[in-house]
Amino acid sequence: MKPIKKFLPLSCPSCASPLKVTSLACEACDTTVSGSFELPLLARLPADDLQFVIDFVKSSGSLKVMAQQLGLSYPTVRNRLDDIIANIETIEKNIKASR
Ligand SMILES: [Zn+2]
Repeated sequence: MKPIKKFLPLSCPSCASPLKVTSLACEACDTTVSGSFELPLLARLPADDLQFVIDFVKSSGSLKVMAQQLGLSYPTVRNRLDDIIANIETIEKNIKASR
C-alpha cells in the first residue's frame, strides 16, 4: 500500500479555530508528553507557504534566484512573498489577540 502523505491540520474541522498541540510522543521509547503547547508561528503557515519560506532562506533571500528555480516571473514571486507576509501578519495578530 502506498503511504499516505499527511499534512499537519492547522484549524479545527468543526469550528475552524486554531489547533494546539496537546500530545508529543517519542517513537524510540514510546514516552508520551502531554500538555498544551502553541504551534510556532512558521508551523502555522500552510505547507506550501512554509516551503516557499524555506526555499527563500536557502536562496539567501534572493527573489531573483527563487523566480529562476520556480520558473516564474519576478513579479509573480514578489506577489507570492507579499501574500505570505500578509498571512504572517494575520497569524501574529491572532496570536496577540489570544493572549
Ligand atoms: Zn524516548
